[in-house]
Amino acid sequence: MSTQKVAIVTGSARGIGAAVARRLASDGLAVAVLDLNADSCADTVKSITDAGGKAIAVGADVSDADSVAAAVDTVVTELGAPTVLINNAGIIRDNMLFKMSVDDWDAVMAVHLRGAFNMSKACQKHMVDAGWGRIVNLSSTSALGNRGQANYSAAKAGMQGFTKTLAIELGKFGITANAIAPGFIATEMTAATAARMGVEFEDFKKASAAAIPVARVGEPEDIAHTASFFASEGAGFVSGQVIYVAGGPRG
Ligand code: NAP
Repeated sequence: MSTQKVAIVTGSARGIGAAVARRLASDGLAVAVLDLNADSCADTVKSITDAGGKAIAVGADVSDADSVAAAVDTVVTELGAPTVLINNAGIIRDNMLFKMSVDDWDAVMAVHLRGAFNMSKACQKHMVDAGWGRIVNLSSTSALGNRGQANYSAAKAGMQGFTKTLAIELGKFGITANAIAPGFIATEMTAATAARMGVEFEDFKKASAAAIPVARVGEPEDIAHTASFFASEGAGFVSGQVIYVAGGPRG
């Protein structure tokens, strides 16, 4: 087995996850591009292999423990033991509290929180065996509260507590756990929010940029850069932290 480190990036068929997968591959890691449907990972995998990197597509539902166990086994067999995990898969089911259904609540909790739990639990044993590991969880500025996102903001605040606990429990095995809390990042997720509000995406981005100190919305590569730092060898003394990557100090 080669000494190339192996990363799993969940929800990396597109958006932030795809950018993180490409960045980790260019940093020299072999990357498992994991999403609900393996076929949807083809573009991300191709962009990595075209650039000379190593990647495989893995289909799994992070909210399902059996699906996660099978996916991690596949990664171990095809690439080697995963020691970098980016818990990025996510969904939104926005609504005002009085209209939010129990299904909207449960679906968001299942993907973000149970998903990160399932993936971290399945991967940590490989990190403990290696005496080295990096876990990066995607939180959000919504953790601080956001109208129409009672479910999502609770899940994203939960990701921060989860991260800090993993940092405390796993530190002695050489494993760090950190969170990234993005602000507005231009992806299909924010495009869907614009559509739900009946606003053109370009107008939505322009209005959002006007309220952001650096006067632009974020791009997936902004998050990939931060994930690359957390995953790096030199970040071994940084653990249990949340970095707001939001073009300003919110957080
Ligand atoms: P996105 O474009 O919607 O991508 C999310 C990916 O996750 C999709 O490919 C989706 O697959 C996948 N996914 C959903 N449920 C899954 C499951 N159960 N198992 C495996 N994969 C699943 O979202 P994004 O904007 O890149 O966001 C990525 C992460 O950053 C999320 O955790 C999000 O909450 C967070 N974030 C985003 C922003 C932003 O402004 N965009 C801000 C703060 C935080 P399908 O397409 O098959 O559903």
